[in-house]
Amino acid sequence: MQTNGVLNHRELYRLPWTLPDNAISWLEPTAMCNLACDGCYRNNEKNSHKSLEEVKHELDVFQRNRNSDCISIAGGDPLLYPNIVELVAEIKRRGLKPIINTNGKALNREFLKELKKAGVYGFTFHIDSKQGRGGEWRNKNELELNDLRYYYARMLADEGNIACSFNSTVYEDTLQYVPGMVEWAQNNIDIVHTMVFIAFRHVVPDMPFDWFAGGKKIDWQSIMYHSDEKRRIDILSTDLVSKIREKFPDFSPAAYLNGTEKVDSFKWLLTERVGVPGKIYGYLGPKFLELVMAWHHFFKGTYLSYASPKTAGMGRSAMLFLWPFDKGLRKAAKNMLKNPFRIFKRAYMQSIMMIQPVDFMPDGRQSMCDGCPDITVWNDELVWSCRLEEQKQFGTFLRSVKKN
Ligand code: SF4
Repeated sequence: MQTNGVLNHRELYRLPWTLPDNAISWLEPTAMCNLACDGCYRNNEKNSHKSLEEVKHELDVFQRNRNSDCISIAGGDPLLYPNIVELVAEIKRRGLKPIINTNGKALNREFLKELKKAGVYGFTFHIDSKQGRGGEWRNKNELELNDLRYYYARMLADEGNIACSFNSTVYEDTLQYVPGMVEWAQNNIDIVHTMVFIAFRHVVPDMPFDWFAGGKKIDWQSIMYHSDEKRRIDILSTDLVSKIREKFPDFSPAAYLNGTEKVDSFKWLLTERVGVPGKIYGYLGPKFLELVMAWHHFFKGTYLSYASPKTAGMGRSAMLFLWPFDKGLRKAAKNMLKNPFRIFKRAYMQSIMMIQPVDFMPDGRQSMCDGCPDITVWNDELVWSCRLEEQKQFGTFLRSVKKN
């Protein structure tokens, strides 16, 4: 049986990430940015850099409340944060993996060297066609932007041993490009470790809700993330899967996080594939991911988020030694061995993640990611980073209440 007609959540591995024990935590040292992305959910504030002491305190809050494998350093653009090098070193000193979430604009080879010396573990570059990029990237579509993605992937690969991921927000009119981006990632599987697609969400006209901050009714147009015109805000992870399958019919997600209000929704949907540039041998199954998460937690005390490039390059060993445990690995190994010479060739693993932020239930309930990985700190509390502006603006999360 398939829920949504695409996937059955009970056949997938439910990622074991929870609020106190999660692969990721989300730290924002600044809200300042050098781009203005359409789908961004942070108000761009000049001079909003926190002091290094404040940021260290937020790290203390995380470490008091939660096991984490990595810290996503986000914002704003964290490369604009004046103490970014010290911050990376501090996170590394605490035994966490520093991952920089950036649009890349402020990055050059010299800066990268400095960050690597400080201990940066990986980068996630947010690149899509609605960021208002200028110069040669102005008005480029998602596929034309693959050249920009390649520029950053190459830069990291030349520096060596840095995990490389890309994020894109997916809008109604850019959904068509997702298979082409997945294909580009496949062609560069040796240097691109993760692709993340995030479905666009906003508050739009004609939503059948009234909005409340505590007991006070507020105007929906005062919410920072709103659009005055009607737009599609209900793209699901399974819509992305269906679109990708038009080009790659075997595309098979293996693990997920459900929604807080909808058990069979795929708020984070993870696909793991193995292959060489230009050829995918197969898709790893739920058992493989269960094994990886359990192994990592048993030996390191945390659930795995970002794997190192070295680990991602162990696709061949995974197929040869772990095939008895996972159907997907067996199938991939068989495909690889169709040409026995391939056994001498290094194979790579690559993750494709789909994220489906807040969903509105017909009765007004809001379904968030269960065990939110991108949780951040606000007034010493853990709060959803995608909705931090509500805390900043109204002192609370907003409730949507069905209109009578
Ligand atoms: S609840 Fe929001 S902040 Fe948390 S993981 Fe989902 S989209 Fe990200």
